[in-house]
Parts: sequence; structure tokens; C-alpha cells
Amino acid sequence: MVHSCSKHPQTGFTDICCGCLVDYNNDVAELTKHRWIPVEEPPKDMIEVWVIGGGLIETGRYMYNKWQRIGHGGGLLTNITHWKPIILPGE
Ligand SMILES: [Zn+2]
Repeated sequence: MVHSCSKHPQTGFTDICCGCLVDYNNDVAELTKHRWIPVEEPPKDMIEVWVIGGGLIETGRYMYNKWQRIGHGGGLLTNITHWKPIILPGE
């Protein structure tokens, strides 16, 4: 059965609109890009990232199998559970 999509009226489709599918895949890609990643999948060494542990978000980097704080006097970060890339507006 052919029907039309209110968001993508220009595309003819059956069941799932191609435009909606593209939008959905883009949404998933965007969410994936911004997701918090468990520390079991650490970032490459030396990359500055956001880290979260115990409800606190800081910037740090993963070096020599340890999390190092960036700024605030440096030092080691413990109890980090997740990290995510620093993605600035427009990136
Ligand atoms: Zn659609």
C-alpha cells in the first residue's frame, strides 16, 4: 500500500518513508556521536575529553591506563565511569 508522509510529501513510499528513515539514521548517528562511553572503551591516549564519575563532570585525558585531570591543579581522577568527546557547537 502506498501512502504519503506529512514530513516528506515529495517522496512516494510504501510502509516506511525513505526520508523518515534517513532522518532516523541521522538522529541515531547524532545520539551516538554525543553518547557517554563506558570506561571499558577508553579514548585514545592524550585526547582531552569530558569525564564523569560520582555526579561530577570534568575534563581529563586517559594516559598510561589512568585518568588524569586537566586543570584545577591536575592529579589523578578516580571513580570515572564514562567519558565523551568534547564536541563544540557547530562541529
Ligand atoms: Zn517521511
